[in-house]
Parts: sequence; structure tokens; C-alpha cells
Amino acid sequence: MSGIRSTGFLHLGNYFGAIRNYVRMQDEYECYFMVADVHSLTTHPDTKELKPNVHRVLAENVACGLDPEKVALYCQSHLYETGELYMYLNMLAYKGELEKTTTFKDKARQHPENVNAGLLTYPVLQAADILLHRATLVPVGKDQEQHLEMSRNFANRFNHRYGDVFPEPYAFNFGEQLIKVPSLDGKGKMSKSENQYATIYLSDEDDMIRKKIMKAKTDAGPTEPGTPMPDYIENIFLLMKLVSSNEVLDKFLDDYNRAVIRYGDMKKQLAEDMVVFVRPIREKAEAIRNDQKYLRDIMEAGAEKARKRAAETMEKVREAIGLKYY
Ligand code: ATP
Repeated sequence: MSGIRSTGFLHLGNYFGAIRNYVRMQDEYECYFMVADVHSLTTHPDTKELKPNVHRVLAENVACGLDPEKVALYCQSHLYETGELYMYLNMLAYKGELEKTTTFKDKARQHPENVNAGLLTYPVLQAADILLHRATLVPVGKDQEQHLEMSRNFANRFNHRYGDVFPEPYAFNFGEQLIKVPSLDGKGKMSKSENQYATIYLSDEDDMIRKKIMKAKTDAGPTEPGTPMPDYIENIFLLMKLVSSNEVLDKFLDDYNRAVIRYGDMKKQLAEDMVVFVRPIREKAEAIRNDQKYLRDIMEAGAEKARKRAAETMEKVREAIGLKYY
């Protein structure tokens, strides 16, 4: 189970941290993937862009290879059971631990005018999304590690207080370390809502991709051999590892080690490889976004599949809590 907020254009971080694994999992596992539209309300109260954003997230997921026939691809707000489980889990979550969550502190600092209770209880809603399907594997990027730990805590508290209902969910990347795709300005991660010019979107036109990559921070000349690689150079290599061939990566690593690297050439190569990677996804997503009937069919079928599992879980939850009075 996993989800992506409908807060804007999907980017390379969403792809490599999350969607790539959704696609890898779809043949082997029972999968539930959602557009987290309710989560987006915690930081994006203006809903003018909500509908196009929801459509965009759906279309971009499918364009990346997610097959709505194989998985339940649905909208968070269409699954009312989530709200009910969120309510019960809120009684097991403590104000102190929620206030200590890194994402809450970051978002509260960025938007002091809108520190709402939904933002504070974001990890509880996320736990409800996951536990509603009694999911065990959650394909996410590194930024979600702390939230997953909180989901496990809430699951264990529930089981301890009311009886075993939930397995423990873990962040999943096929046994590899979780991924963080860095932003091009060397500050933090690529993100839908921040760092627009330092994030490569799956919808970026070829020239925009070239422009953004060429502006990425590097040094004027090679680093002295034997000195540690600066973060911003490491980031360029990391991006290259994601989209370029091994031969290309090895060539530039070798150039770096011999202190003969030309960063301009490296960025040009990276930009071209990035263009080749993004273009087919962008073109496919555009076509899907224009097919409103297809999008509606995906959402309806996805919600129906998800609801089956959710209804089963909620029966167990109500019974365990003792909400059956006759
Ligand atoms: P927002 O800026 O609105 O918070 P976001 O870009 O951080 O959005 P989310 O919707 O919060 O994206 O996350 C969707 C999925 O993408 C999650 O699994 C998250 O871990 C992953 N993800 C987001 N950004 C990155 C990144 N830069 N590197 C790796 N994974 C990422």
C-alpha cells in the first residue's frame, strides 16, 4: 500500500522513490495505491487545482507503467472507512509524539499561518490509509521512514489495547536502502510543492529539463584528487546513476577520480539521458489526462476493490474495540 499527494506535478523523486516500485510489485503482490487527496488539504487548502492535480497523479502513475487492472488505484476521499479508522487511531496517538515529527516541524515552519490539526495528525491519517488494508509492505522514499515507524507504533498500540488486528507495516524497496532523489540546488529533496526550479517533473518539456540540469550547482574545475566529493557533485552522480547507462556513469566517475572531469560535459550528457527517460512518460501521461472517461473508470474500479478490503478490516476493528452492542 502506498500513496501520493495530489499537490502538483510528479517528479523524479516520486518515480524512483515510489512509483517504480509500485510497478515492480504489481505482478507479485495484492496492491493498493491511492491518490492522497485528503492529505493534500493539510497544506493546500485552496481546492481550485485539486481536480486537475488528482487527474494528473492518476495519469502519471499509469504512464509510468502502473496497470489499474492489476492493482487497486483509487482516491483517498472515496474510501470513507479511512475516516473512521483515523478517528479510532487518533485516540492512540499522543500530542507530544506528533509535535516531534520532522515533517510537521518543517511544514509548520514553512507555513506558520496554517498549522492545523490535520497537519499535526498527518501520520495518524497515513497509518489509517495503510492499516485499513492490513498492509505489510509500503513502497516509499526515504522521507517517509519516520512516518512508517509511527504507523507501526499505532498498530502495536491498537493490538495491545484491543487485540491483534494489524500486522506491522514496513517501508519497502526490495531489500535495498530507501531512496532520496536530491534537488538540483543541493538543498534537500526534489518535491512537488517546494524547489520548483530544482526539481525535474515527469511533465517537463525537453528544453526545460536541459535548462534545469545545466543550472545545477557544480565546481568550475575538477576537485583535487583525494579530497571528499562535495554533496552537490555526489547528487549529479546520483541522478546519473538513475537515468544513464553504466558505461556513461563509469566514464565520468573515472574522469572525476583522475581529476580531469568537465562538469559542463557531464551535465550535457545527464540532460540528454534525462530527456530520453522523461519524454515517453510525459507524452503518455498527456494522452491519458485527456481521456476523462478512462480516469473515471480507474477511480471507480479502484475504489470498489479497495472498499472490499477496507470493509473487512473495519469489521475486525469494530469488533476488537467492542463497538458491537447487539
Ligand atoms: P509534497 O511536496 O506535496 O509534500 P512530495 O513530492 O514530497 O510532495 P509525496 O506526495 O509526499 O511527495 O510523496 C509521494 C511518494 O514519493 C512518497 O513515497 C515519497 O517518499 C516519495 N518521494 C517524494 N519525494 C521524493 C524524493 N525526492 N526522493 C525519493 N522519494 C520521494
